[in-house]
Amino acid sequence: MKILIFLGPPGSGKGTQAKRLADKMKIPQIALGDILREEVRAGSEIGNKAKSFMNAGKLVPDEVTIELTRLRIGREDCRRGFILDGFPRSVVQADALDKMLAGKKWKIDRVIYFQIPEEAVVARLAERRSCKKCGAVYHLRHNPPKVAGKCDACGGELYQRDDDKENVIRSRFEVYAKQTRPLIERYSGAGELVELDASKPIDEVNVKLAAIAVVP
Ligand code: ADP
Ligand code: AMP
Repeated sequence: MKILIFLGPPGSGKGTQAKRLADKMKIPQIALGDILREEVRAGSEIGNKAKSFMNAGKLVPDEVTIELTRLRIGREDCRRGFILDGFPRSVVQADALDKMLAGKKWKIDRVIYFQIPEEAVVARLAERRSCKKCGAVYHLRHNPPKVAGKCDACGGELYQRDDDKENVIRSRFEVYAKQTRPLIERYSGAGELVELDASKPIDEVNVKLAAIAVVP
């Protein structure tokens, strides 16, 4: 059983690294942003509720993300562990997660803090492109697809997320600073936090991350 939490500002590379590490460790990546975007696309009740918050760069209400996480980690494929990518993002969510895990007698192994200056992530987000079909993530310069506009993995169309536009990026940072950053102290106090220099190239971060995460 291995439970990892990825914590860090938008664009720090959590999703990119979570996908790779999840493949390597054969445990699922649970990306709340991906789950919510899927709900929006499907036009579900949850999706309709979440959409305006996401497009404004705000956090979706805690009760929604907490319930989605509770359901997701209760699924069969999480019995050997999982990577939480983008949850918790508030103190209320962190408290809820503690309760969920305690109920299952599970505990957090590591909280990996993706450390990177704000200026660096703005450039990453402005040039991020995501696959409409499978959610794979690219960067126009640092991680370009083989064929422009098409996903290497599934051939799906690449698009720019609505919340990766400049004005929304700003409010996502404000939200991060106010609501999510306090969690760094919480987890470092609990001795669970490990810092990772997320400003390095993708492969380099990947090697360091594997050394931290893939321990018995
Ligand atoms: P997050 O999930 O933390 O929001 P992503 O993994 O989606 O971040 O990465 C944001 C953007 O930066 C994407 O376009 C991705 O391809 C790119 N990226 C991720 N890691 C790096 C890195 N180490 N160096 C340069 N670009 C990166
Ligand atoms: P991400 O794909 O991680 O960048 O998340 C995109 C958006 O989804 C965020 O800006 C929020 O609106 C929403 N979201 C993702 N995770 C959470 C969470 N844990 N709590 C609240 N909102 C979230």
